[in-house]
Amino acid sequence: MILFRTKAELARFAAETKRSGKVIGLVPTMGYLHAGHMSLVDTARSRADVVIVTLFVNPTQFGPTEDLDRYPRDFERDKKMCEEHNVDVLFAPDANEMYASDSSTWIEELDLANPLCGASRPAFYRGVTTVVGKLFHLAQPDFACFGLKDAQQCFVIERMVRDLDFQVEIVPCPLVRDEDGLALSSRNRYLSAEERQRALSIHQALLAGRKELEEKGFAALDEICRKAIDSITAAGGRVDYVEGLDRATMKAPTADSREILLAAAVFFGTTRLIDNELVQVK
Ligand code: AMP
Repeated sequence: MILFRTKAELARFAAETKRSGKVIGLVPTMGYLHAGHMSLVDTARSRADVVIVTLFVNPTQFGPTEDLDRYPRDFERDKKMCEEHNVDVLFAPDANEMYASDSSTWIEELDLANPLCGASRPAFYRGVTTVVGKLFHLAQPDFACFGLKDAQQCFVIERMVRDLDFQVEIVPCPLVRDEDGLALSSRNRYLSAEERQRALSIHQALLAGRKELEEKGFAALDEICRKAIDSITAAGGRVDYVEGLDRATMKAPTADSREILLAAAVFFGTTRLIDNELVQVK
């Protein structure tokens, strides 16, 4: 595995790889890798000649009061995991390398990014789309893998690619959970044993919501979300949102909706966790 720290090295490598006609698969991450990330890497490995993983805790997607400084990092462990999964290139720049100090240009998606995490974290998606756009320019991937753990993020990036004509296929990958149902996340590291146990209520509430949504349809959505909020709150969570939106529009579902994203963001202690279920409706 080759490690690059600079954009120039990555760009040169990508240009040469493209010239030789090889397929490049990209997996952007913020590191502190777990089995969820590695499932994306394995998907990329199965389809690409060259797999590039990026490891960058992107400051522009964190708000001023958020956890940028304490975001978990373990470079040596991440590097070992990438080697074990046959990654070809690990790109791990620092923030000064990634952004000019007077950087003043953004990529902003202004529709799908508005609700849910976009409403709670105003600068978040602008930071995500900007850094992903930069990574696409540098790595020139044929495809890039994104996890449905962050379903809204995946849909925002699909829209960005469509609207700005990036020649990159977006490959959505299934959400990976721990055995007890908790969605894997680098931020699970912050949870005490008791908070982690209580946090199982998120998945349980969303599963109950899925069942009811499948049975009753979108007309029952308000009641379904209310129940989910009540049960998560009873387990000690501070709910940021539980909402069901049309997957295609990220707006309130209508009779035409085919798939509903039932999504939750919840604080346990100071840790904000997100989870979701994608539900087919009749
Ligand atoms: P992050 O490092 O949290 O920014 O995540 C990097 C990529 O891994 C994103 O595309 C995430 O959606 C994906 N990812 C993170 N956790 C999971 C998970 N539990 N299951 C599937 N994909 C995940």
